Amino acid sequence: MSGFAFDNSYARLPGRFYAQRPPTPVAAPRLLRLNAALAETLGLEPAFLASPEGVAILAGNAVPEGAASLAMAYAGHQFGQFVPQLGDGRALLLGEVVGRDGQRRDIQLKGSGLTAFSRQGDGRAALGPVLREYILAEAMAALGIPTTRALAAVATGETVRRERALPGGVLVRVASSHIRVGTFQFFAARQDLEGLRLLADHTIARHDPHLAGSPAPYLGLLEAVVARQADLVARWLLVGFIHGVMNTDNMALSGETIDYGPCAFLDAYDPATVFSSIDHYGRYAYGNQPPIAQWNLARLAECLLPLLAEDEEEALAQARAALGGFWPRFEAAWLDGMRRKIGLAEAREEDVALVQDLLDRMTKNKVDFTLFFRALGDAAADPAADAAAATLFEDPAAYQGWATGWRQRLAQEGGKPEARRDAMRAVNPLYIPRNHQVEAALSAAVERQDLAPFEALLEVLARPFEERPGLEGYTLPPQPQERVLQTFCGT
Ligand code: AMP
Ligand code: MG
Ligand code: MG
Repeated sequence: MSGFAFDNSYARLPGRFYAQRPPTPVAAPRLLRLNAALAETLGLEPAFLASPEGVAILAGNAVPEGAASLAMAYAGHQFGQFVPQLGDGRALLLGEVVGRDGQRRDIQLKGSGLTAFSRQGDGRAALGPVLREYILAEAMAALGIPTTRALAAVATGETVRRERALPGGVLVRVASSHIRVGTFQFFAARQDLEGLRLLADHTIARHDPHLAGSPAPYLGLLEAVVARQADLVARWLLVGFIHGVMNTDNMALSGETIDYGPCAFLDAYDPATVFSSIDHYGRYAYGNQPPIAQWNLARLAECLLPLLAEDEEEALAQARAALGGFWPRFEAAWLDGMRRKIGLAEAREEDVALVQDLLDRMTKNKVDFTLFFRALGDAAADPAADAAAATLFEDPAAYQGWATGWRQRLAQEGGKPEARRDAMRAVNPLYIPRNHQVEAALSAAVERQDLAPFEALLEVLARPFEERPGLEGYTLPPQPQERVLQTFCGT
């Protein structure tokens, strides 16, 4: 009994969509972490996955019956440069399962060895980035943000050569699909109209089944993806998340956050913040994420043009209209979220100015994004707590100058102060994966084989909104010597 009941719809697409190959076995697989709750959702038996037989599958040392074991073909714009062939260079889609919730999901091994798309790479992943993706993906899920998930992390017992030799790992990743903007670009670049149509139909079947058989399914698909990405990027901004590598091959049609590389959460608020060591020009800075998402969606729209209408002008007009939906959708989602963050239940014309004034003051005063909104919740319940919120500003008067107008606005709404504070606590997380804590957990795990800080951090991040005693240390921004200035792709 393999424990996996695969139903591999992607593998039923033509051979040019992927390249099949078994994973490459590793020397000494060791299960470091299993996501038992996710396994249950997928209809998998945690005890089986944790058994030697199960671990062999998670590590790529055994291929269960019915697996697809394929590397998906895709292209992509990397930092604005088009690369006509990328593809899964170090990942294999083991197969798809339909979970207890009726949802179809991909199970992918990341770091499982060479594929037809490995190019100069070794097909492997270092353990640090594997554990990093585990932490970040699960933290995002707990924050309620659409994301791929981590099912398991395995140590390979092998080293991978990067700038230095590092322990290797395999991440078992779960996604509602791995179809990317770059997947469409792969077929568009080859003028493979049949491939494009098959891919679009497959995507509709998986993510927007109500569109199948509708009068304009491909326009509907584009509109749906635009809406999902607008909502997703708004959610990122509202928690201070910076993806770091928003290349078109790292944007999923499902609307899930995918490919956690040099991503990071803000400590002090500043829209110009960049952590990624390879993002030299700030293309993927925190505040640039909305226009970049729209740019990526325009690349998707270009691919879909031949499917939209026979007449080129007509197809362009449709694509433009669909893309035009991005900003209004994003701004509405973002503003709605910001209103909740500051405790407003009603929408007013002047809210944009109130929110923007706050963010400008936060930037100038290097205010910790996460701590501030929690402190503001306390201030909403009791004006005596204003002082604590104000001390987060370099110049406390900058807070007071904003809070006066905010209080007037709150007074107009009425409502119970404690209820408002509780509503604010429910949207403003207290615990986020701060870089310095993530790095500390990773270095303990990788350099000292001590998984305790990793486990502890996961436990904290699993319930980000609920204050618990003894966890104050996890709420703190880094001390100057703890600050992480750069994050690395660390493939
Ligand atoms: P990423 O920056 O992780 O989104 O990856 C960009 C491209 O490089 C994808 O096609 C990956 O499959 C490929 N890639 C990244 N790391 C490796 C590796 N170690 N071996 C082979 N291919 C890789
Ligand atoms: Mg093939
Ligand atoms: Mg990628």
